[in-house]
Amino acid sequence: MFFGRRFPVEKEEETLISTEIYSCSDDSCIGWMRKNFASDDLLCPMCGSTMDSGVKDLPEI
Ligand SMILES: [Zn+2]
Repeated sequence: MFFGRRFPVEKEEETLISTEIYSCSDDSCIGWMRKNFASDDLLCPMCGSTMDSGVKDLPEI
């Protein structure tokens, strides 16, 4: 489901791809990583908490 994003976009030519990621299970932490680059232990690189799988729109690499 998509909701309108009303904040201005400076680089509209940038293509965002829905990418599988792991995000930190701690709501107060912004840590996440791409599944492709996830470490074997699946712990947050910022705080060491466990990670939950999810999807994030990221620039194509
Ligand atoms: Zn974290």
